[in-house]
Amino acid sequence: MKQTTLWVVLALLIGLAGHGSTDDGRSATMSEQIRVYSVERGEMVETRTVVKSDEEWRAELPPEAYQVTRRHGTERACSGNYWKNDREGVYRCIGCGNDLFVSTTKFTSGTGWPSFFQPVHEANIGTEVDRSYGMVRTEVHCSRCGAHLGHVFDDGPKPTGLRFCINSAALEFVEMEVEPPPSR
Ligand code: FE
Repeated sequence: MKQTTLWVVLALLIGLAGHGSTDDGRSATMSEQIRVYSVERGEMVETRTVVKSDEEWRAELPPEAYQVTRRHGTERACSGNYWKNDREGVYRCIGCGNDLFVSTTKFTSGTGWPSFFQPVHEANIGTEVDRSYGMVRTEVHCSRCGAHLGHVFDDGPKPTGLRFCINSAALEFVEMEVEPPPSR
């Protein structure tokens, strides 16, 4: 009888340990291998998705970046670091460093948010229908860590006709020489 009790206790302990430290439902999601485009390398590269708990993101990101990327927030127009930035370089995801946009696809939209007519590669972002606030919009997020970036609209300039309206708080700009985007 005593031995049975011991086994039950052991089984419970092993079961608890197996669940890890996060219990927000993401613990079951494992990091996966993906291919994204690297601006620096000029080619597709293998990487892994970044999976973190809400507590980890909150601790690691600046407050506004956390609100925007993990809580689908929107920074005030004309308040961010990059809507007027016209330096040459790459805009990376603040959460995971994934390359998202390059300066050669940035344009002046007059909205007060950094605006681009295309991402560095379609593999580097994901989109989803967003029905919040009584509107139907297309949400844009980082394909590597899931960070909410902004929205994409179909009133952009040539050659794509798209306007990626992105929060500065979701981005980290790195100055570097970039080539004009190849048409894909
Ligand atoms: Fe990311």
